[in-house]
This record gives sequence, C-alpha cells and structure tokens, in this order.
Amino acid sequence: MIDSSVAEHILLHCDRTRSKEARYSLDRFLWEPLKWQHMHLSPECLLAPQNDILRAQEAQKLLMPDGLWKCSLCGKIFRSEHYHDKHLARKHSNMRYDTGTSCLADFCGTLVPCAPLTPHALPSVSTILLLRQDKGLSPSDETQGKEHCSNQRIRRNRVHACEEAIRSCLPDHVSFHTGFSSHGKLSGFREDLCERAVEIDCVPREEVWSHFGSLERALQRRHRYQFAKYVGLMAALLVIFAVVFWRRPNHQRLSDRRRKSR
Ligand SMILES: [Zn+2]
Repeated sequence: MIDSSVAEHILLHCDRTRSKEARYSLDRFLWEPLKWQHMHLSPECLLAPQNDILRAQEAQKLLMPDGLWKCSLCGKIFRSEHYHDKHLARKHSNMRYDTGTSCLADFCGTLVPCAPLTPHALPSVSTILLLRQDKGLSPSDETQGKEHCSNQRIRRNRVHACEEAIRSCLPDHVSFHTGFSSHGKLSGFREDLCERAVEIDCVPREEVWSHFGSLERALQRRHRYQFAKYVGLMAALLVIFAVVFWRRPNHQRLSDRRRKSR
C-alpha cells in the first residue's frame, strides 16, 4: 500500500503507451519462462501484475468483435486502443486497485526492455502529457541524459542493478547457479531481460524497428542460447546417425550369414 497522493502522482505521470510495451516484454521475458518452470513471482515484486498501477483501468478496456474499443465505465466507443488510452487518461485517470503501486513504464530501460509494438512508434500517453498538449506546451520536457549508452562501466552497473532487482522478484528459495539446471536457465533469462532493457533504451524509439529489424528481433533472446540450442540439436542428430551407421553393418553381416547357411 502507498499513500493515495503518491499513487495519484504516479497515475498522472504514468505513460500508458510505454506501460503496454513493458507488459508485452515482461510477458515474453518473465511470465512465460516462469510458467515453464512452474514458479511464482514474489507478490512484493514491483513488476508483479497485481502491482501494475494501471491494471484497474486496463480492465475497463473492451475489444469489440468489430475491432472497436469500448470503455466499460461510460460506454464510449473508440476506433483504436490508443484513443481509448487517451480517454482513460483524461476521464478516469484516478481509478486504481489498492495494490497498484508501480507504473511499469517507469522501469523501461532500467528493469524492462520496452520497444514500440508497431513499426511507427505510438506517442506517449499520460494525463500530464495531455494537459501539456492542451496548454500548447511541447509534449515532453524530459531530456534524460543517457550516460550508460556511451559509458561501458555505467552500462554494466546498470545491468547489474537491474539483475539484482529482478532477483528480488523471485521466491526466496530460488537460488541462481550457472549450468544446465532450470535455475541456471532462469538466471539467463534475467540477464537477457536486463541487457535488452539497457540496449533498447539506447536506441531512439522511432528507430527501434529499423535498428533490430522487427519487434520480435528486438526482444529476441541472445544468440548464445540460440547457438547452444543448435549445437544440442546437431549433437543429437550426430548421435542418431552414428547409431544408424553402427547398426547397419551388423544387419548386413547377419543377412550374409543367413545366405551362407542356405
Ligand atoms: Zn469512459
């Protein structure tokens, strides 16, 4: 639980477009792998779905069979989710569940790799940004210095801090070891998540798709895992071939013996 004034501040500033990107990415990097491992996320984790401060508002978005979006709070219809997001930011911005404490967009580039979900990145949407637009001000005056993009040491520290934070999201009894154990694999997932978070953060949003080729490639796991997978596959094929070729002469020898005995 957090103070309601703090929660309101987070809600007003929370970027809905980026939060959506964070949710998509977390699903790929954390929730799916955790499901495979039959593991559960710590409820205290800042990234846990129940702590998503926009969760209550997201639940009000209904996608209709005709592709339109409907606000279940007031019945208004929108032709895209983006306009629906703007509506929520303007009209229902204070709504949240008590457990909602985190704006997922705030973790983009630090704990979560966030990449535009469409080739042309949708603009950020938050109540504060819309108010600024209404007043004729520039959409954003946030000019974050990104030292980590040019300084390797700062970049490594940032990835390390991210890994520590993600580690706290997993149950206490899970320890991370390198190797081929399931926990070792999970550790790899965590490293991927953090390195990707920092890497994508250093690419201008409008260029993410062209830089990586596509959203899927931007969020793709590192090649060492792909490479290990292919090496494993090749090794398995070699074993199968070896067994087949080893057994073949025995069959031939047997048939030769049978022919001789006749
Ligand atoms: Zn509404």
